[in-house]
Amino acid sequence: MAIIWPFSGSVQNYAQGGSDIVVPRPDCPTCSLPMVFWSSYKRYVRHLAEDHHLTIKRARCIGCSTTHALIPSFILLNRLDTVDTVGKVLENVLAGTTGVRPAAIEVAVPHTTARGWIRPFCDRILEIGACFSALLVELGGEVISYVDNYKKYALSSIEKAFQSATKLPGWQSIGMWNFVSTITGGKIIATNTNSPFLRVGKRYFIYPVP
Ligand SMILES: [Zn+2]
Repeated sequence: MAIIWPFSGSVQNYAQGGSDIVVPRPDCPTCSLPMVFWSSYKRYVRHLAEDHHLTIKRARCIGCSTTHALIPSFILLNRLDTVDTVGKVLENVLAGTTGVRPAAIEVAVPHTTARGWIRPFCDRILEIGACFSALLVELGGEVISYVDNYKKYALSSIEKAFQSATKLPGWQSIGMWNFVSTITGGKIIATNTNSPFLRVGKRYFIYPVP
């Protein structure tokens, strides 16, 4: 399994830090017991057309012995490109600023790659909009009235939920798309996610699908 943790530095900072990067030690997501650091592995990510080699630490639960990869929030599960790269394309396409092709060119990825990000997002667009609007209210924001454009509704829910979250300590510095990656467990464009859930700190929010 993977645990996404909020990382406020840049991808370059993380890559340069190598195995010296200070990773917060989590409790086990299954049994809540403390975990110990347990080896690491190498991988790379593509961030706005540049490749970066990373060291990903692992942690092992002292209770159930499960190991978890501790993934910095700029990474999405099973994706090569960083969440900021994907987020730039999503923002442009959802806001209707550009089509997928020009958005892909802007972040230097093939058109088909960008389409592979938009499609799973749009398949769950109402769920995503509803999740983030509910989170927005949970965080003390004003409920957003439904607009008859699913894309703008989803984007605006994410933006406003992030704005509300920035009133809590720590979120401002990690940026909107790292926030999204952290609270969705790196699954904002996952293709086989069941019911959507958001995790903020140790709290889980689960919402009915509209
Ligand atoms: Zn455990």
